[in-house]
Amino acid sequence: MSDEVPDFLEDLSPERFMGEALKEARRAFEAEEVPVGAVILDVESGRIVARAHNQRELLRDPTAHAEILAITQAADYYKAWRLTGCVLYVTLEPCLMCAGAIVQARIPEVVYGAVDPKAGAHCSTFEVLANSSNNHVPRVQGGVLADESSALLKDFFRQRRPGGASRGDPGSTNGAPG
Ligand SMILES: [Zn+2]
Repeated sequence: MSDEVPDFLEDLSPERFMGEALKEARRAFEAEEVPVGAVILDVESGRIVARAHNQRELLRDPTAHAEILAITQAADYYKAWRLTGCVLYVTLEPCLMCAGAIVQARIPEVVYGAVDPKAGAHCSTFEVLANSSNNHVPRVQGGVLADESSALLKDFFRQRRPGGASRGDPGSTNGAPG
């Protein structure tokens, strides 16, 4: 709207970057991984410097959540562990491990899609990201394209449990209703 705003900044809407994170989540879906995706934006340039999706099955690694893989990529890009010029977009509320990594990386802003009632560590099971006793407290916005994010997760678990089994999935990273 303003003449002072460069073109690329006009398109820095949370929905735009969550759309990119959703593309990653769909890649996870196609690879039969729990469909969670993340991207990291470099605020100064408006460029995405990391894209990742959950690869826990492929890598046989319990830490291979989308956020962890994206944070590692971004640290590699900056050659630094402090990601202070970034926004992390992730399709699902971060878990305890990922919230810890976000704090460790000093990421100043986090935008997520769906809440995870079973494992979310922003407002659902723990409040790690909002805990003022941490040495770093990011700004957090939830609920961006939440319907798309949770629909993908529901589709995934519906396909995996076609009989509608009510058994819980203790290995899941998310709280998609079963
Ligand atoms: Zn996680």
